[in-house]
Amino acid sequence: MENCIFCRIANKELSSEVVYESDQVIAFRDVAPVAPTHILVIPKEHIPAVHNLSMEQRNTLLPAIFEAIDQLVEKENLAEKGFRVVNNAGQEGGQTVNHLHFHLLGGRSLQWPPG
Ligand code: IMP
Repeated sequence: MENCIFCRIANKELSSEVVYESDQVIAFRDVAPVAPTHILVIPKEHIPAVHNLSMEQRNTLLPAIFEAIDQLVEKENLAEKGFRVVNNAGQEGGQTVNHLHFHLLGGRSLQWPPG
C-alpha cells in the first residue's frame, strides 16, 4: 500500500535496521524502542491487523512470522531471561500503524498488566 510506512520499509523505500528477512516476512528494530530489544516482525504483504488475516494467511503467514520470532529470540539471547511478543489491534488496542506487526520485547524485566 502506497501510504503505509511499514510497506515502504518492507519495499526498502524507507531505511530501517533490518534484523531478519524471508520471502514473506521482514523484521526491523523499532524506531522508538521501549526495551533493550524491541523488534517489529511484519508480513511483507499489507494486512491491516491480526483479525484481517484470512484462513490461508493464518496457515501460511503466522508460521513464517513465528519462525522469524524463534530465530530472533535465539539471536538476541532472549530465551533464558524471557521476552514478550505483543500484537496491538485497533485504536483502543493501541495499534498506531495499520500494517500487521508483532513487537518482540526483551532485555529488561517487563511488567504486567500493560497500560
Ligand atoms: P503499534 O503502536 O503497536 O502500532 O506499534 C507501532 C510501532 O511502530 C511503534 O512502536 C513505533 O515506534 C514503531 N514505528 C513507527 N514508525 C517506525 C519506523 O519508521 N521505523 C521503525 N519503527 C517505527
